[in-house]
Amino acid sequence: TPALSIKQLTKTYNNGFEALKGIDLEVDQGDFFALLGPNGAGKSTTIGILSSLVNKTSGTIQVFGHDYDTDLFNLKRHLGVVPQEFNFNQFEKCFDVIITQAGYYGVPPKIAKERAEYYFKELGLWDKKDVTVRMLSGGMKRRLMIVRALIHEPKLLILDEPTAGVDIELRRSMWNFLTKLNEQGMTIILTTHYLEEAEQLCRHIAIINHGQIIKNSSMRSLLNTL
Ligand code: ADP
Ligand code: ADP
Repeated sequence: TPALSIKQLTKTYNNGFEALKGIDLEVDQGDFFALLGPNGAGKSTTIGILSSLVNKTSGTIQVFGHDYDTDLFNLKRHLGVVPQEFNFNQFEKCFDVIITQAGYYGVPPKIAKERAEYYFKELGLWDKKDVTVRMLSGGMKRRLMIVRALIHEPKLLILDEPTAGVDIELRRSMWNFLTKLNEQGMTIILTTHYLEEAEQLCRHIAIINHGQIIKNSSMRSLLNTL
């Protein structure tokens, strides 16, 4: 089974705008996959649908064989999504945000705390654990969103422009962190509008424009054609 299988996914917003015009995507287990495209191409719409924030118009989605329409509960157990926008309770403490999230997935508190400690330390957030979310910088909030997406140990992690607006030093440390997760076996998909980021990290690339996939290949063969 592929980690992600999307067939003929379409999205027409209520104003009639066709943001996705029939997307087909298949991502193998263990892959590191880039969805590259300019602003407005449909990347966030695709991720919004995967995280149940946006309703799809038609098409099918499966994550490790679990169907979006008939088995959303199990699909969500295998999936972690890092959205582009911060949607935290700003007045909660960072560590509490993560423990609360873990509870939604039924992760026992003791395990949640151990995992949270590990990821806070890995991502350089440990000294912020008792700080309220609204005190964090943009880069810290983004790292906190990554911890939140990982706390139930998904097999597939999807990140929407994870390094947008992030300085070069933090960008490199996030790249290292994601590479390590992938080496440990996690399937990772990220969207980006920087070819350089895709090239650094990813083995496969799909290019999306105007709601359609216009290219889908290994990174190596794409780079050979440039
Ligand atoms: P859905 O089809 O998923 O129900 P809607 O078409 O109702 O979504 O739009 C959801 C929200 O997004 C609305 O509040 C709308 O004002 C807002 N919105 C409209 N156009 C845009 C846009 N171009 N980019 C981002 N958000 C938009
Ligand atoms: P990307 O993430 O690749 O920049 P998006 O998925 O955010 O692209 O947007 C794709 C297109 O859909 C854009 O033209 C955007 O303006 C439009 N769009 C996004 N949200 C809405 C909405 N709620 N209503 C109408 N149009 C929208």
